[in-house]
Amino acid sequence: MTTDSAAQHTPASAEFLPGPVLLLGAPGVGKGTQAQLLMAAFGIPQISTGDLLREHVENRSQLGIRAKTLMDSGQLVPDEIVNGMVADRLTRGDTLPGYILDGFPRTEGQAEWLDAKLPDLHNAPPLVAIKLHVATEELLRRITGRRTCPTCKRIYNMYTHPPAITGICDFDGTPLQHRSDDTEEAFYRRMAEYDTKTAPVIEHYRAQSCFREVDGVGSLDQVEHRIIVALRDLRAHVPLQLAPVSH
Ligand SMILES: [Zn+2]
Repeated sequence: MTTDSAAQHTPASAEFLPGPVLLLGAPGVGKGTQAQLLMAAFGIPQISTGDLLREHVENRSQLGIRAKTLMDSGQLVPDEIVNGMVADRLTRGDTLPGYILDGFPRTEGQAEWLDAKLPDLHNAPPLVAIKLHVATEELLRRITGRRTCPTCKRIYNMYTHPPAITGICDFDGTPLQHRSDDTEEAFYRRMAEYDTKTAPVIEHYRAQSCFREVDGVGSLDQVEHRIIVALRDLRAHVPLQLAPVSH
């Protein structure tokens, strides 16, 4: 991919930097895909706690070893370890122009930790939060309608993007698969967990006036454009105010 195509693709411009961005929203709302697009548009990293966890375990860092011991015995990795990994990641220089947090903070406790931590971090500007909103009924269709081809890995949707012959891949004729966690029951279980844990995180940032809700229904480009408009608007109210770097 050339920088030319990235520049044409996006209404973002070189002089605008988004700073730290938190992407929020229910499971299946398209956060991961939009995070990828924003990374390309602004040249900033995406910070995902899942990736950090894998990296620390692979590198056998102190935090990684503690996390692996807990996971091996079937326990959840506590906030303290996850927060430590995020803190470590945010000290790397590539986060200075901004970054996208995906899947963190997931709980109100993590959000409070991050609020307290950011001012301590080298040159850390304030965070802005974007919530992608898609109606529950639409999310259910997106998830329960999803079918994948085990041969070419193409993804279909029975409702919005069906193959020509029901249940058969257009490209190689392989019967499509329905993943067991793409059922209605699994969807409502994930939504209930999201409502309990993450809805308070949304209220946390909404109360700080650094929050916008963006309509997540439409083409990828349309949704990306709405997010960038919201980011510019948020940064007009929550400026980056980058302090001069002192050594
Ligand atoms: Zn296929």
